[in-house]
Amino acid sequence: MLSWYLEKAGLSFIVIDESKPRSASKAAAGIINPITGRRMVKTWMIDELMPFAWNEYKSLQADLNAQFISEKPVIDFFPSPQMLHAFLKRYDEDSQYLYKADDEQAWDTCFNYEFGWGKIQPCYLVDVQALLFLYKKKLFRQQLLIDEHFAIDQLIANENKVHYKDIHAGKIIFCDGIESFNNNYFKGLPFAPNKGEALIIETENIAAGYIYKKGITMVPWKDNLFWVGSSYEWEFKDDQPSEMFRKRTETILRQWLKSPFKTVDHFASVRPATLERRPFAGFHPVHTQIGILNGMGTKGCSLAPFFAKQLTGLLMQQSTILPEADIRRFAKILSKPYPGGRIN
Ligand SMILES: Cc1cc2nc3c(=O)[nH]c(=O)nc-3n(C[C@H](O)[C@H](O)[C@H](O)COP(=O)(O)OP(=O)(O)OC[C@H]3O[C@@H](n4cnc5c(N)ncnc54)[C@H](O)[C@@H]3O)c2cc1C
Repeated sequence: MLSWYLEKAGLSFIVIDESKPRSASKAAAGIINPITGRRMVKTWMIDELMPFAWNEYKSLQADLNAQFISEKPVIDFFPSPQMLHAFLKRYDEDSQYLYKADDEQAWDTCFNYEFGWGKIQPCYLVDVQALLFLYKKKLFRQQLLIDEHFAIDQLIANENKVHYKDIHAGKIIFCDGIESFNNNYFKGLPFAPNKGEALIIETENIAAGYIYKKGITMVPWKDNLFWVGSSYEWEFKDDQPSEMFRKRTETILRQWLKSPFKTVDHFASVRPATLERRPFAGFHPVHTQIGILNGMGTKGCSLAPFFAKQLTGLLMQQSTILPEADIRRFAKILSKPYPGGRIN
């Protein structure tokens, strides 16, 4: 997203991105959902983020001559009487985005559900895999992409310039997901890595026009495939798919779906989440030629376009970054001398 805005702003850039099969973006379902959590509250800034994201992805679609965003309402099957109660309470307080079931039996040919359902609308679904594939192809064609590992020990940062191998630039911006946690410029930021797993299942008779939820979420992927997930683990030993997640999810699916299904893939990745659940955007207070766009946590699809555009605006000296996301809020921590002496 950042490189797209840089291009639109007429700034010259080069992207260094090593293709990793399981980056957070490649594992993501791609949902932009205005409602979150057990209390079914509105997600942070969603009234602004949703229309913004929709328009920006639409415009990017036109640029790439492809389709990767669609509107898909969430059919929320309440997994317990408590969740039904939470939905109704929320509906009475603020019904924006929420709809009560118009026909309780509407889904009972495909799903088992005991406590009714409600609908969340609008929700958007971004096909992140297709978007990344097409965008990387465009960057390759323009000779703006180097698909290799960026070795930070080869970065030389002078007062106004950065040098990396034979690249000499005014700025460098790290958008490297969980890798930033070990980057000596930014590792003082309060990151909080969060592991998530998902299954890809094959099943029939379920309409691909919706996202389905019953504790877990089932998202149309492609053809008869659905993405099913996810877990949210704050403490984990490794970033690999676990037998426990697969068995637990398949058990839930056997009780929920009326049709048989087959698991065809299972993956895990780590979300670049933050303790405060707010992104990190901006430039280092001491090494001002070094920037970051990160900390998208569970909401990269809605947050990334918005803050990529703000960061581009900052580079153009046309706008600032929202204080809740601006890394200047950590200026004190980031200004501390790095104990190892040489920073990179
Ligand atoms: C299971 C799961 C489900 C999710 N579902 C959703 C969802 O439905 N909706 C939503 O909005 N968000 C979702 N997320 C969160 C979303 O995936 C993240 O917020 C987002 O992908 C973060 O994007 P990123 O570009 O910051 O990091 P990444 O996607 O991790 O990208 C970082 C990139 O940097 C590259 N890189 C790192 N280090 C180097 C290096 N040294 N040299 C070269 N390249 C490097 C990596 O290869 C990668 O391409 C989900 C996450 C998971 C794990």
